[in-house]
Amino acid sequence: SGRVSLSGSGSTDDSRWPRQNSLSMKEWDIPYDELKLFEVIGTGRFGTVYRGSWHGAVAVKLLHVNALSDHSVPLDTFKHEVATFRKTRHENLVLFMGACMKPPRLAIVTSLCKGMTLFTHIHLRKDKFTNNKSVIVAQQISQGMGYLHARGIVHKDLKTKNIFLENGKVVITDFGLFSVTKLCFGNNARGDSLGIPPGWLCYLAPEVVRALRPHASLHLPFSKATDVYAFGTVWYELLCGEYPFKGQPPEAIIWQVGKGVKQSLANMQASRDIKDILMLCWSYRSSERPDFPHLLSTLEKLPRKRLARSPSHPVHLSRSADS
Ligand code: ATP
Repeated sequence: SGRVSLSGSGSTDDSRWPRQNSLSMKEWDIPYDELKLFEVIGTGRFGTVYRGSWHGAVAVKLLHVNALSDHSVPLDTFKHEVATFRKTRHENLVLFMGACMKPPRLAIVTSLCKGMTLFTHIHLRKDKFTNNKSVIVAQQISQGMGYLHARGIVHKDLKTKNIFLENGKVVITDFGLFSVTKLCFGNNARGDSLGIPPGWLCYLAPEVVRALRPHASLHLPFSKATDVYAFGTVWYELLCGEYPFKGQPPEAIIWQVGKGVKQSLANMQASRDIKDILMLCWSYRSSERPDFPHLLSTLEKLPRKRLARSPSHPVHLSRSADS
């Protein structure tokens, strides 16, 4: 009866907001007036993030919803995603503190991440990660992602911009918020017709790329396996310091990924095991991609560069003695 369905064709409508949840939601409702907003940290595709204060330092993501005519649609989606968010408690996931849910004020309040994102480390500062360090970071990402998946949550937007490094500890942000944020984006008529922001495409699995249509990003087939594909790209960035398909136009990337062509690893300085992880995560068929517990055990088994050697493997001093 003219109601907008967000669940896509063919799915049942029990994804609608369940009654008992709307009561317990109150617990997570933060009155907008209680928030203090300080400077803007950054503006993303869908919202502006402020440094703020609410019982201490927080990050407040204010969603851009002003362009929407029908507030009830994003509010339902938003509440649903907040409900997902509040179920998360893990070392490697940003701490969700609450949300403002009175349109037009829709905001997510999380702990404030210290440190920098992997994106900043890799692409702006050009910091080099040794293989050992990359493995440690990848293990922590796998732990956080494995937890999310075990709770039935698909991240949908795993990328180095959404991974912080705080004193060596990985903190993943922005999980599960893709639909509502995409919804806002779809309405503001910016960007190209496919709504492809730079640096997004190389995280999209073939089945997602093949489903790209103008203004239809809400129905993209994200899954646990598409998160694993995105993890593969993060792993590549950690190891190579750049994006796969670097410098290629979106159409070329879409064409290649859609057909199952992968970034070549021929010039990459890494062991077979390390490259195998990449190739598995980037498998064309989603069923062939490993899950995060499997990735974690593979990463744990990678041979580390030995720092201390046993007497049976004497250290050859010749190189360091050269100078
Ligand atoms: P996109 O919108 O394409 O995802 P983005 O990740 O840069 O891009 P946002 O997620 O809106 O956009 O983040 C905007 C800025 O706020 C980024 O610089 C991000 O690093 C920062 N930020 C987001 N969450 C936090 C947080 N919890 N603590 C500190 N900074 C944060």
